[in-house]
Amino acid sequence: MTALTQPGAVWFLTGSQGLYGEDTLAQVADQSKRVAEGLAGAGLPVDVVWKPVLTSKDAIRRIMLEANADDACVGVICWMHTFSPAKMWIAGLDALDKPLCHLHTQADAELPWSTIDMDFMNLNQAAHGDREFAYIETRLGVARSTVVGHVSDPATIAGVDTWARAALGRAAVRAMRLVRFGDNMRDVAVTEGDKVEAEHVFGVNVTYYGVNDLVDAVAAVSDSEAETLAADYEGLYDVVADLRQGGERHDSLVYSAKLEIALRSFLTEVNATAFTTNFEDLGALKQLPGMSVQRLMADGYGFGAEGDWKTAMLVRTANAMGQGRTGGASLMEDYTYNLTPGHERILGAHMLEVSPTLTAQKVSCEIHPLGIGDREDPVRLVFTADPGPAIVVGLADLRDRFRLTANTVQIVEPDEPMPKLPVGRAVWSPDPDFQTSTRCWLTAGAPHHTVMSTATDAEIWKAFATMVETELALITTGTNVDEFSKELRWNAAYHRLARGL
Ligand code: MN
Repeated sequence: MTALTQPGAVWFLTGSQGLYGEDTLAQVADQSKRVAEGLAGAGLPVDVVWKPVLTSKDAIRRIMLEANADDACVGVICWMHTFSPAKMWIAGLDALDKPLCHLHTQADAELPWSTIDMDFMNLNQAAHGDREFAYIETRLGVARSTVVGHVSDPATIAGVDTWARAALGRAAVRAMRLVRFGDNMRDVAVTEGDKVEAEHVFGVNVTYYGVNDLVDAVAAVSDSEAETLAADYEGLYDVVADLRQGGERHDSLVYSAKLEIALRSFLTEVNATAFTTNFEDLGALKQLPGMSVQRLMADGYGFGAEGDWKTAMLVRTANAMGQGRTGGASLMEDYTYNLTPGHERILGAHMLEVSPTLTAQKVSCEIHPLGIGDREDPVRLVFTADPGPAIVVGLADLRDRFRLTANTVQIVEPDEPMPKLPVGRAVWSPDPDFQTSTRCWLTAGAPHHTVMSTATDAEIWKAFATMVETELALITTGTNVDEFSKELRWNAAYHRLARGL
């Protein structure tokens, strides 16, 4: 559950034509309103806005331009209730710059077998009307999700929900301003990348600030404001005695609170929803930001360590797509392995910065030494991620394009407690098995930093990848190394051709 939500509406567009006459078109309008109401009442993470039935090329083009211009509109759903000759849709679909869901449905689920006549047949024509529409979508190369079924069917709603969440992610990344405090960790390759290309492909604006801008913001936070927040921490977490009010190291907790307040105010001021830090460039900061970063991720911000703006972008995107669901999204790093044959496990963590939304348990707030960063001991939240399904997603820059790689995983209980590991962590078993997962991940050249999300799934990421026209190499149940390797080669050719020469 995140506080920094990405609001959005989807427009419900119904296609028809003038040939049917006023009476029939009035019925089409009534029935399409009913379908839109069915969607609106289904608990989707977006508002559903019904629009008047479209019967002309000019009206279609105009509504698409309006959808493009309306920042609140994150996507359009199209349904051809009757037969809507698709040449009318060419100009509009060409102009559309918002995600498209083709909903292939019908007003009523059951055919009235005993009373059906040609009037019914002429009114309920999606079976062929949507085929005509899909032909022109495919001919024009329109990226879209296709969802099939009646709105009373939970599977249909789930399909629209998946698409709507991906559309929220796309809206979030389009609007995203991402602050980098400092640059990239020295000599690291995979966290680098083409920020100009990223703004073109995803919309994200990745921009630099000196870390001492953050130092100034910390200095501007009053002691009393920080003490108030530190008192909140004592209510929310199991804060160790040393850090509590009156404890020997309470000042460290207050400083961590100042870091959080400063980060929030700084990001708000520059209208940013994601950020990075770099432990090699901490300026006059007294601590490597730990708990502050953890709490900001839990509120919906994106974060990447060591200047990793691509993972920061993914964490924010995953937070926007998973909003309203239990679970969350976090920076994650494949850290170390249990390699016992048949019982392989990945232990993921980071120096400090793992989001506490990966657990529903009360977490502890602790202070421990940290050699990395060469500063005072940082305050951090310590916990183990709850068992359950999750997905890890990484973004790599392949010179002329980006590749998303994703792996569905099962978070499991650690075999034993880890009392000497004072960081937020997760232990997981990847699909389809450790050997296949890691061989595929390495073959894809996918990064060691990922977003781990427990509130989104592979279907949402597939829809998102379609919307941002970016390769998604998915490692999941049923994946095998040979087929995956071939897919990567075919994808390399496809994505070059699809972008034009
Ligand atoms: Mn790292």
